[in-house]
Amino acid sequence: MSSGALSQKLFATAREMIPGGVNSPVRAFRNVGGEPFFVRRAKGSRIEDVDGKTYIDYIGSWGPNILGHAPTVVTNTIHEVAKDGVSFGIPNPFEVEMARTVTDWVPSVEKVRMCNSGTEATMSAIRLARGFTGRDLIVKFDGCYHGHSDSLLVAAGSGALTHGEPDSAGVPADFARNTVVLPYNSPEALEALFAEKGECIAAVIVESYPANAGFVLPQAGYLDLLSSLTKKHGSLLIFDEVMTGFRLGKAGVQGLENITPDLSCFGKVIGGGLPVGAFGGRAEVMDQLAPDGPVYQAGTLSGNPLAMAAGLAQLKELDKASGYPRLEQLGAHFENGLRTLLSEKGVPHRINRVGSMFCLFFTDREIVNVEDVMKQDLEFFRKFFWGCLDKGIYLAPSPYETGFLSLAHTEADLDDTLGVFDEVLGSI
Ligand SMILES: *Cc1c(COP(=O)(O)O)cnc(C)c1O
Repeated sequence: MSSGALSQKLFATAREMIPGGVNSPVRAFRNVGGEPFFVRRAKGSRIEDVDGKTYIDYIGSWGPNILGHAPTVVTNTIHEVAKDGVSFGIPNPFEVEMARTVTDWVPSVEKVRMCNSGTEATMSAIRLARGFTGRDLIVKFDGCYHGHSDSLLVAAGSGALTHGEPDSAGVPADFARNTVVLPYNSPEALEALFAEKGECIAAVIVESYPANAGFVLPQAGYLDLLSSLTKKHGSLLIFDEVMTGFRLGKAGVQGLENITPDLSCFGKVIGGGLPVGAFGGRAEVMDQLAPDGPVYQAGTLSGNPLAMAAGLAQLKELDKASGYPRLEQLGAHFENGLRTLLSEKGVPHRINRVGSMFCLFFTDREIVNVEDVMKQDLEFFRKFFWGCLDKGIYLAPSPYETGFLSLAHTEADLDDTLGVFDEVLGSI
């Protein structure tokens, strides 16, 4: 299976000048073998590649495009706002409106600081947590992705409670030493660590619903335990809602699960497709940030008017269009169809879905943590991926990614997709 002639040519040229030919690794299709296609344009639920082939898209730019591609409300806003300037480096009114929207929609956030990516948001949140508590130790979970800053690029072996080993060359072991990695969904591991080191732990950072190594849901009571243990030991709970924030509801997972984290991180949907991140939480903690407090954090383009306006346009439209109930309706339609199809075909599967986020696992094993995710049938997934791509369905080029629906998807899109799945499964 290969991409079209123009895509192949562009990729060959790109590889001469861009490491791996891509500006973010997963785009290189390494998990499925083969080469990526290049996109010419995208609208609604569809992407068109440079060779003129169209696909129904289930990635939505890896999360941001919850209204679909190039929604008129966002593109018109960008055109209008750009006429008055694209960056000032001086406060602009959109920043205030964005802060008002975030603090209104997410009750745990009393104050918020804008930045330019999810990575910046989580990196800054852990620095703030360390500054606020005067402690160094950060706890994260195996398989949770929080961007690519040094302290968080540690995933370590699963199972026992282990001190972190860096997950990337170039991360000093001394940094990783201050990050403890625990298996996800293990109350015992959490309790043991807090019993031993509770007073050294600055923060626990968790993907509100882990969605970067498959899509894994917390077991009953797990998030409550996280919340009560951190509170009891004076550690902060950081909810990384970069993927789930403004996607699963106005208040993200914390709203669905009724949890009040100390700090929350956002990205993706909040930027309307432009590069935006944000972190916020209790005023007492946020006030430790410069210029009021001793924790330094800054950004030349942070709060950029174009990005703020695009994000606001997207959030307002979501609200106005009753986006969340509609996305749940679409998600349920897709999930039901998928379950029926896979059962009829006798294909072992697990489906995890909440609202517009879904993940299909080719396994009959219950998916509780990253170990389970790694045990799926990779070869089967590869064949499924290429079969679907060939027939115009673009799924994430890795079995470890979550799929996304948008408000631009229709029941007809989903049914067409299920029809393709049916054909492809019949041919594997
Ligand atoms: C995407 C993601 C990040 C990183 O965001 P970038 O904008 O890619 O830096 C962090 N945390 C989670 C949960 C994410 O899904």
